[in-house]
Amino acid sequence: MTESCKKMLLASIYETYETFWADTFFACRKGCASCCTQSVTITTIEGNNILEYLEEYDVIREDDLAGRLAAATPSLPACTTNQFAGSFLDGKVPEAGAEEWSLAPCIFLAGNCCTIYPARPFACRCFASTAPCGPEGAALLPTAVISLNTAVMQIIEHLDQGGCWGNMIEVLKSLAGLKPTGGGAGPGHKKSKLYISQENPGFLIPPEDEAVVVKYLNTLYMKETAGRTFAEWLH
Ligand code: SF4
Ligand code: SF4
Repeated sequence: MTESCKKMLLASIYETYETFWADTFFACRKGCASCCTQSVTITTIEGNNILEYLEEYDVIREDDLAGRLAAATPSLPACTTNQFAGSFLDGKVPEAGAEEWSLAPCIFLAGNCCTIYPARPFACRCFASTAPCGPEGAALLPTAVISLNTAVMQIIEHLDQGGCWGNMIEVLKSLAGLKPTGGGAGPGHKKSKLYISQENPGFLIPPEDEAVVVKYLNTLYMKETAGRTFAEWLH
């Protein structure tokens, strides 16, 4: 699948997700940004979207971006979402999701607003709360939202197979040809905290959240993009 197809399907995922929750109340508002930290994970498709947006709208100069990436203190996850799901489905105890949670402000935050809002990745689109989070950033979400968010992250990683998966800082560094924070020689290296995006091994959906996730998946898989349904593009 070409990069432009992947980009088109990612846009369908975002659009379906936004419509799906359109009538649900969330407390999230412009200027409320304690959730905008350096703990966001993304894929190559999303990283390329961000870099294209930065260039097209001249948001940050190239040397300024390199400086911000170098100075960042990102959290470094221990495995991808699909690796985590795969271990779990194999009956193994998965590694922890992240070594530590970095609460440092996101490098794209300015005046409590996102400077790359139209190109923000799925992890930012799905992070929400039904009550204002407060300074420590604890969000309140129904489990069905969390289950759906995990399923959508699995689909995006599946779509990105062979690309990079990791903290946004690490993926952007890799795409820009900069040295990784976690050490190692790049995605897949045993010391690197940047991973290769994996095939979806199956979803992790508790029975009580199944109806919500299936409803979203049915809507997404039947959605037509460039003459084919999402499901046809995936298989
Ligand atoms: S998740 Fe929390 S901090 Fe982030 S916008 Fe929503 S209410 Fe505000
Ligand atoms: S990319 Fe934007 S929405 Fe996402 S954490 Fe950074 S500032 Fe917040």
